[in-house]
Amino acid sequence: MSDKYDVVVIGGGPAGYVAAIRCAQLGLKTACVEKWKDEKDEAVFGGTCLNVGCIPSKALLDSSHKYVEAQHDFEVHGITATGVKIDVPAMIARKAKIVSQLTSGVKQLFGANKVVGIAGAGKLLAGKKVQVTKHDGSVEELSAENVILAAGSAPINIPPAPVDNDVIVDSTGALEFQSTPKRLGVIGAGVIGLELGSVWSRLGSEVTVLEAMDAFLPAVDGQLAKEAKKILSKQGLDIKLGAKVTGSKVSKGKAKTVTVSYTDSEGEKEAVFDKLIVAVGRRPVSENLLDDASGVELDKRGFVVVDDTCATSVPGVWACGDLVRGPMLAHKGMEEGVMVAERIIGKKTQVNYDLVPFVIYTHPEIAWVGKTEEQLKEEGREYNVGSFPFSINGRAMAANEKDGMVKIIADAKTDRVLGCHIIGPSAADMMQQMVIAMEFSASAEDIGLTMFSHPTLSETVHEAALAVNGHAIHGVNKRKR
Ligand code: FAD
Ligand code: AMP
Repeated sequence: MSDKYDVVVIGGGPAGYVAAIRCAQLGLKTACVEKWKDEKDEAVFGGTCLNVGCIPSKALLDSSHKYVEAQHDFEVHGITATGVKIDVPAMIARKAKIVSQLTSGVKQLFGANKVVGIAGAGKLLAGKKVQVTKHDGSVEELSAENVILAAGSAPINIPPAPVDNDVIVDSTGALEFQSTPKRLGVIGAGVIGLELGSVWSRLGSEVTVLEAMDAFLPAVDGQLAKEAKKILSKQGLDIKLGAKVTGSKVSKGKAKTVTVSYTDSEGEKEAVFDKLIVAVGRRPVSENLLDDASGVELDKRGFVVVDDTCATSVPGVWACGDLVRGPMLAHKGMEEGVMVAERIIGKKTQVNYDLVPFVIYTHPEIAWVGKTEEQLKEEGREYNVGSFPFSINGRAMAANEKDGMVKIIADAKTDRVLGCHIIGPSAADMMQQMVIAMEFSASAEDIGLTMFSHPTLSETVHEAALAVNGHAIHGVNKRKR
């Protein structure tokens, strides 16, 4: 006899645990199978995001930023801080504490919502049955009316730089260094490479980022990507574009180093590092997840094939989060988890994939939603742009956070906002107001007519919206009206 549930979720990351909680809220008898375990073999929920992703990386970004501020930025406020030191193990331990607070928080939420957490690896069999292999090797079978696959993603390994978890690490290893490497190499100038490179650069590493592509952050609006490269380079990141890593050799002996070979426009080159972070992207974890008889379709790259509603090729089997198409972002997976739960009870909930917000948590942060200028040009759409720099915003001046700008792009005929791009202090949080505005189809004029508290960083958004139609008050308008 197998235990019977309305819903079995495989994977307890942001997509899976959110789906499970929402299903339970909707009155469905729900279990969530998770293979991540603690030292007692109990399930740890929260997935990549809480354990080795969003949260620990932000904890280290915040700690390392405070170190930089104490060393270099206090002075301008008249504060002298001498003898500032960093205790790396203490910083890593603080991060671990935050992670454990949050993962045990998910467990409590499961308890409060009556989600049954099951420790072990789940595999979907035919007929919506789920086989669970427990950590002691025993096997249990569950059956469900609906199964939600949310097994997430894992770092991609590349043959030229195999991870040894000693000198060559992936993003997970880069969150655990116990001392600051003197020379740090990072392969990949994507979001994760730049965030983790920034952490260790702030703590004193000489950081070299090797990026195969010639373009820097091609998904980011060109004007902001250019600004970001300038600022990050000034902070000390040596970003080498068009540099494709072709091999690596780890030295023998006690103080190991790695010699990385790469090719760029000038030919073959080598660089020596004390640690190397491989941050070349992530892949879906679909191996060992599906029995051949499950009937669920995978694409060539191993993503579970789903439609806009996260339904797979098998009725009653759903998939969401990093395991399926679309950006690998925690909030995208969470929204999909809610949508799937509500679809299971017959609601017509949708995810607005046009308004997924993106953030790079460097300092300053880079955040955007909607279309870039480059995308609109390619689509042949006519648009107006309004931008406003933080350097002349009163609150940014008070905080001495003057780098960056807000850029708003609106349709030339309807004035409807098509994109918002921010590089600057608290860009992620500031941009969220534009996500809401765009969700309600706001025009630049609507935002211009909204009252903003003074003095706030958000006034930069207000002024950029006014500038779209040529009437920013506190700056010189490029577009005249
Ligand atoms: P995951 O979080 O990967 O969770 C999947 C879970 O399923 C895991 O716990 C896994 O153990 C479990 N599992 C897998 N197979 C099985 C099985 N067969 N049986 C049982 N359990 C199984 N995103 C953001 O939005 N913002 C950020 O700032 C951000 N920063 C990041 C920083 C880093 C360093 C990294 C690595 C990622 C970051 N991400 C960020 C991405 C984010 O972590 C992922 O998009 C998110 O975790 C995906 O959620 P998920 O639930 O789909 O998958
Ligand atoms: P992302 O997918 O955003 O995390 O970014 C990963 C980055 O790694 C991409 O910009 C890739 O171009 C880059 N990349 C992948 N393989 C290599 C390689 N062998 N050498 C240098 N960069 C690479």
